[in-house]
Amino acid sequence: MMKKTLTVLSLSLGLLLPLSTFAKNNVVVVATGGTIAGAGASSTNSATYTAAKVPVDDLLKAVPQIQNLANVTGVQALQVASESITDKELLTIARKVNELVKKPDVNGVVITHGTDTLEETAYFLSLTVHTDKPIVVVGSMRPPSALSADGPLNLYSAVALAAADNAKAKGVFVLMNDDIFAARDVTKTINIHTNGFASQWGALGTLVEGKTYWFRNVAKRFNNASEFNIENIQGDALPLVQIVYGSGNMLPDAYKAYAKAGAKAIIHAGTGNGSVAKNIVPTLNELQKQGVQIIRSSRVPQGFVLRNAEQPDDQYNWVVAHDLNPQKAKLLAALALTKTRDAKEIQRMFWEY
Ligand code: ASP
Repeated sequence: MMKKTLTVLSLSLGLLLPLSTFAKNNVVVVATGGTIAGAGASSTNSATYTAAKVPVDDLLKAVPQIQNLANVTGVQALQVASESITDKELLTIARKVNELVKKPDVNGVVITHGTDTLEETAYFLSLTVHTDKPIVVVGSMRPPSALSADGPLNLYSAVALAAADNAKAKGVFVLMNDDIFAARDVTKTINIHTNGFASQWGALGTLVEGKTYWFRNVAKRFNNASEFNIENIQGDALPLVQIVYGSGNMLPDAYKAYAKAGAKAIIHAGTGNGSVAKNIVPTLNELQKQGVQIIRSSRVPQGFVLRNAEQPDDQYNWVVAHDLNPQKAKLLAALALTKTRDAKEIQRMFWEY
């Protein structure tokens, strides 16, 4: 039964039971696969295993303590390793979460996810799901079969966060290794240790023994303040956006090939301040004139790309990705392209999200 119904019931019956007996929120765990649902051949295989094996019911049963935090139920949305997530899977997750947050008896949602593209799904949800209910994306760096597996505590903390009333209207979170990160600026920084995630702007808070401790808020637009709406996206594909990685001695061929393949925007993961090599500039300008948006991000993990600094963006009609890394810039560009083809309008979105 729902929290509010029970509270009313206990009051109207004049029961002297503590309200905390009934005060549990309802949290749904949407399982999508990843290492948190992986299985290795032995307990010493902390890095060699197959992702996406364990079904959601077993994940929940392995951490019975979560039922003390909330009334937790599970849904198996997907069972994949997250490097294989395409627009189709991304939209499946977003539609599922959108459907759940609309239910009055759901107070929070946890998504168990592979860590490779966890940051992308989290950012996409923050852009497309209109809600103030906590949405938490969680993974693990070791499979459940390994010694000192990190998944169970991460799941426990994720449920605690999704059930926390003080987590409402703060955005979509990534919970890893006790840290509460904002979806927009968290990124996977280490591919082998349990402290695999970080944000250049720091964590929003930390979660210890099922309790939240907050330190900052997100300054950009998300969830209810987002102009993007999952319900306006038809079919299983977003406008095609691809990334080209900058390096010395580059050839322009990759940009041309992606444009030929139908890319509507190309994220240039440039060196330094999103810089573009001299021999690449004419190709990017040619593609821009053909209607392909050129968006300058950086291969440098920290800082942000300054408009009109290394390149005359106003003159070329290019966009800068601000502090979004290339993979997040790719998602914002795809959503932006569902609304406009105007580079100035796309630039506005990159400042605001
Ligand atoms: N390749 C895995 C995945 O992203 C890694 C992980 O979950 O940690 O699904």
